[in-house]
Amino acid sequence: MMVRVYAADLHVHTCLSPCADEEMSPKNIVRTAVGQMLDIIAVADHNSGKNARVVMEAAADLPLTVIAGMEVQSREEVHLLSLFGSVEILEEWDAFVYQHLPDVRNDPDVFGYQPIVDKEGYVLRFEEKLLINSLDLSLEEVVKGIADRDGICIPAHVDREAFSIIGQLGYIPPELPIAAVEIMGRQRDTVPEGYEAVTASDAHFLRAIGTKRTLFLLEAPTLEEIHRGLRSEGGRRVTELS
Ligand SMILES: [Zn+2]
Ligand SMILES: [Zn+2]
Repeated sequence: MMVRVYAADLHVHTCLSPCADEEMSPKNIVRTAVGQMLDIIAVADHNSGKNARVVMEAAADLPLTVIAGMEVQSREEVHLLSLFGSVEILEEWDAFVYQHLPDVRNDPDVFGYQPIVDKEGYVLRFEEKLLINSLDLSLEEVVKGIADRDGICIPAHVDREAFSIIGQLGYIPPELPIAAVEIMGRQRDTVPEGYEAVTASDAHFLRAIGTKRTLFLLEAPTLEEIHRGLRSEGGRRVTELS
């Protein structure tokens, strides 16, 4: 077995997120990630996976692995990264999530546009339901839905007040089957005891990509390997948050 270091930014929004910059096209994201010497990124738009496939396609000829993911907002206003082993699983999850997203129309003047694009960044259509809303799914239902699809669930930015599991609930329910928590600061003392931690940029514009990263020791840049790394299995582990 051979492990090596992989630099990962597991929380990157695309232009589909209304709060993200329109420069966050698939091509721009993957080029920037490679320029930042990242090996792995995860696409994590708010409550949608509809731009993930094109980001993966844009990276096809690059030394970059793109994980299919989404940043879900539960009924309790808790943000959770959900990462999946294939884009097909993400798209099935996306269809499920969409049914549980309130039927509220986006007002682009207030919240920003929500373009579904091709890999060059050309707009194919606009998502009309407002994506930055809470699903009518509880935290437990979201976590279970991710686990049922063999995904990884990571509560996002737990050291922030807004939209975090600790900010909203005050604690992490100990029975929740979560792989790790995401922190935005570098102080591991903000990590609740017993949980592995990752950090990521939560990039909404290009210059933010890779500004926070998690270094993993893994055999290969796959979701399965990341999962094993988070459990420190067989020499795999998180080596550094930077
Ligand atoms: Zn968030
Ligand atoms: Zn985010």
